[in-house]
Parts: sequence; C-alpha cells; structure tokens
Amino acid sequence: PLVLGIESTCDETGVALVRGRTLLADVTASSMDEHARYGGIVPEVASRAHLEALRPTITQALAAAEVTLADVDAIAVASGPGLVGSLTVGTAGAKALALGLGLPLYGVNHVVGHAAVDELVHGAFPERFLALVVSGGHSSLLLVNDIATDVVELGQTLDDAAGEAFDKVGRLLGLPYPGGPHVDRLAKEGDPRAIAFPRGLSKGRELARHPYDFSFSGLKTAVARYIEGRTDAGEEWSKADVAASFSEAVADVLVTKTLRACAEHDVSTLVIGGGFSANSRLRELAAQRCEEAGVEVRIPPIRYCTDNGAMIAALGSALVRAGVAPSPLDLAVDSSMSLSLVAVPAHA
Ligand code: ATP
Ligand code: MG
Ligand code: FE
Repeated sequence: PLVLGIESTCDETGVALVRGRTLLADVTASSMDEHARYGGIVPEVASRAHLEALRPTITQALAAAEVTLADVDAIAVASGPGLVGSLTVGTAGAKALALGLGLPLYGVNHVVGHAAVDELVHGAFPERFLALVVSGGHSSLLLVNDIATDVVELGQTLDDAAGEAFDKVGRLLGLPYPGGPHVDRLAKEGDPRAIAFPRGLSKGRELARHPYDFSFSGLKTAVARYIEGRTDAGEEWSKADVAASFSEAVADVLVTKTLRACAEHDVSTLVIGGGFSANSRLRELAAQRCEEAGVEVRIPPIRYCTDNGAMIAALGSALVRAGVAPSPLDLAVDSSMSLSLVAVPAHA
C-alpha cells in the first residue's frame, strides 16, 4: 500500500510517500529562517507558514514520486505531540484528503515517527529495540516491542531537551541561534575533562526515582555559574573547554542511561533519532560504548533525523502493514500526546 505522510508539529512542513519500507518522495519546507531573528519558534508564524506550504509541498511530493492522489491508499499525519496551531494545520489537511478520497486516516505520534523512519534506511526492525529520540523539543527513551502496536515510554527529560540545552549554552557562550551545532564545533577544540559538570538524575535517590529520565537544566545552570564565577574573579576561561565539558556531560548521561536500559530489557539494538543525533560527541560515545556492550546502533542520515514527512509516512506504513484500525476522521490533535500511544485509536 502507498501511504502519504504529513508532518507539521513544529516549524517543518513535510510530505512524503512510502510504499512498504521504500521511500518514494520526501519534501520539506521550513519556516526556520522566519524564526531565527526572534531566537526561537513563534507559534503563530509557524502555523501560518504551514498553511502556505502544505498544498505546494503535497503537490511536489506527488510529482517527485511520480504518482497521483488516486494512487494513495492511506493518509498518515502527525497529530501530536507538538505546537497546537501547527498540528491543526497538517491534521486539517490530512482529514480533508482522507475524506475527499475515501481513504483511511492515521493520526500518529511524531516522536515514535522519529524511530520509525529508520526502517526506510536500515531495513526491517528486529523483534525489540530501544529508541533514543533527541532533538530541540524532546529527549525520550522508548522501548519498542512493536513499532505499530507496542511502544513503552521508559523516560524523558523533566525539563530541557538536549538540543534546547545546547542552544541555551550557545547563548551563554555568545554563539548565534541555534547554538547546538556551534557548541558542537567549538567542543572539538576543547578538553572534555577540563570542568566537572554535573550529570543530572545519575546518582542515589534521584537515579532510583528516575532511572531513565533526563534533566539538563541543572547542567545549564552549572555552566552559567562557571562562566559568572570566572568572569567575576577576573580569571581567564576557555569557551572551548566549557563547550567540550558540557557536551561530554550531555552525551555521557544519554549514553549511560540508554545502555543501562538495553541491559535491563535485554535489547541489543538501539535506534537514535531526532535532530540532536547530529551531535558528534553523542555519536562517538554511543558507537564506542555500544560496541563494548554488544549493542548495534542504527542512526539514520541527518535529513531523516530532523523533522520530515518520511518519518510519518514510515509509521503510517507500519500501522497499515500491521492491520491496525485507522483513527477516527474527527480525531483531535494532542499537543502533549503520550509517547506510549503510537496512533490515535479508532472509536470504541
Ligand atoms: P522537534 O520538533 O523534533 O523537537 P526541533 O526543530 O526542535 O524539532 P531538530 O530540528 O530535530 O529539533 O533539532 C534541532 C536541535 O538540535 C536544535 O536544538 C539544535 O541546536 C540541535 N542540534 C543540531 N545539530 C547539533 C549538533 N551537532 N550538536 C548539538 N546540537 C545540535
Ligand atoms: Mg525543527
Ligand atoms: Fe521532531
């Protein structure tokens, strides 16, 4: 079956066509440039941009796949989590298509989509695997027993997402927005052991209560205090050492907790997704420690890690293949959709 997927949870309008596990087309329009001057996403601007971009993006994706709407067998749309205005635009478009064409509609979970897209790149998933989804908006650890029917949320960030923490530290270091890639680049010139920054929720009672949750806001505060302390004392400090030591702390916590979950759940495959998976220290440390632990790591190319339509079409395709009943046509968007919900269930 041919599945058309629509992504509009944040600032990317993505449309893709997937048949089985084969990607036929993937087109993305982004309103990122319009937000850059505000130093963050402006929801109203993002919604308006989706409204303008959705139709042309659908047309382009169909043309690129050399198919027409008449060839499509099912529509999938990310109906949460995300910005409510952005979600509403994509979901309204998907409902209109499904209703007009008489096709099944799947309202799918964006975060689960970040894991699902890897099937298009590295082939069918193993029986069970762990997925670490890290981006500017989320940092979640999922146990995937079945991508279409059985996803368990093991943990997520209690405050900032990994990419968000990088952007905030980028600002502290006077780097342009979004700071993540700049901090990453600077980190390569610094000493990761120069400063002992804290690893959140990694010891004692906090670890016991939150074995697989993350917290990065304390780390960001520690970086701010370090910089203030040095500056107040009139001491020299190295931006590169701060970037390297901070990057090390984030990568260390992410990889340590993820590998502990792999061991506890007896899982030997890890999928990493989300735009933060571009981070070079995370990639290095994950590759190194997973090899030691006998865990296979699958990371899709970065264009499939940032928000895109392919991830939504891939998850829709998995749902169709699994014979899951479609979502109701009157489904509501859910800005805080539970990560254990793969798709909006049919009416009981
Ligand atoms: P989502 O809705 O999935 O949360 P997003 O737009 O917030 O989407 P992505 O586009 O997936 O996030 O990822 C962008 C985030 O990742 C930004 O916070 C950015 O700074 C960060 N990032 C990107 N590349 C790197 C890198 N090499 N090192 C560190 N952070 C990075
Ligand atoms: Mg984005
Ligand atoms: Fe995302």
